[in-house]
Amino acid sequence: MSYTPSSSRYDHMQYNHCGKSGLKLPAVSLGLWHNFGDVDDFKNGRAIIRHAFDKGITHFDLANNYGPPPGSAEENFSKILRKDFSGYLRDELIISSKAGYTMWPGAYGDWGSRKYLLSSLDQSLKRMDLEYVDIFYSHRPDPNTPIEETMQALDHAVRSGKALYVGISNYSAEQSKEAFTVLKQLGTPCVIHQPKYSMFVRWVEEGLLDVLEEYGVGCIPFSPLAQGLLTNKYLNGIPEDSRAANPNGFLQVGDVTGDKIEKVKKLNEIAIRRGQSLAQMALAWVLKDRRVTSVLIGASSVKQLDDNLEAMRNTGFEAEELAEIEEILK
Ligand code: NDP
Repeated sequence: MSYTPSSSRYDHMQYNHCGKSGLKLPAVSLGLWHNFGDVDDFKNGRAIIRHAFDKGITHFDLANNYGPPPGSAEENFSKILRKDFSGYLRDELIISSKAGYTMWPGAYGDWGSRKYLLSSLDQSLKRMDLEYVDIFYSHRPDPNTPIEETMQALDHAVRSGKALYVGISNYSAEQSKEAFTVLKQLGTPCVIHQPKYSMFVRWVEEGLLDVLEEYGVGCIPFSPLAQGLLTNKYLNGIPEDSRAANPNGFLQVGDVTGDKIEKVKKLNEIAIRRGQSLAQMALAWVLKDRRVTSVLIGASSVKQLDDNLEAMRNTGFEAEELAEIEEILK
């Protein structure tokens, strides 16, 4: 069936500036790490993307290696773009990709060299059948490549018209400072950092968020639901249709520990008191920090996406609630 985007798609989403840049991102962005590979149901993925766009999600996050197999998420996204988003809709979308993890064998398919980043970007553009991505990321810092080389490659991506903006992911606070300084000197300021951040993973609070504010760079935390742990999904065991039970899922059964689930149960009680689902409260908790531009979620169904979008209705927390959450997470 052909797709006509909802005419009310911009009525309810909030759009935040990415740091001090002119680029705005929706408060909730959608990632294609899981659920969009060749091993997944294409129709379901297509329904999720359409629904996301209807609800004002303009930002879709990819990487060269998303699948499985690696590359297939970009290919499937391209099919959805062709079927549903042809023509002018490209100008309403922010599409990102990344390179930094293993993509092809040999000495040039991994980490942060100019050789790898630029050839990977060409491959991503080919897979997605795009002329440019909106944001191109260095997916992780490379301890064996000078940071200047990696940043020069990002700068080149923009100068050659293959990316509009650049970002970094998984860089520490110190590495980020270096990267921002080099990029600024090159004339291609970094607009965004993509770190892992959730109630369960909080390293960004120990310096990175301050650095981002100081340098005027946006923040888009990934896995804000801890891959599904911070939802009601695992309250009563490991369901068959969960990422933990999925052989292609990155979350392992061993990650669903008794200790975590005890915490999740207590957090769930606070969420119920707030009139939210646990997923909504976990997203609201990340979004409450004004330095966070957007939360980068995953969803395996349209229903989950709708649940998560409701988080924006209440991102305020009473001091007592925050204290109670801290006590549980301690
Ligand atoms: P989340 O923490 O949001 O986890 C998403 C998963 O949680 C879903 O696939 C689903 O899993 C479950 N879930 C989501 N909503 C609900 C809900 N309302 N109720 C119950 N379960 C729910 O994020 P991801 O780990 O998927 O990461 C998001 C994106 O971040 C990725 O797609 C990618 O773009 C990016 N990323 C970047 C990385 C980097 O190094 N830069 C690394 C990892 C991710 P289930 O299958 O169990 O239903």
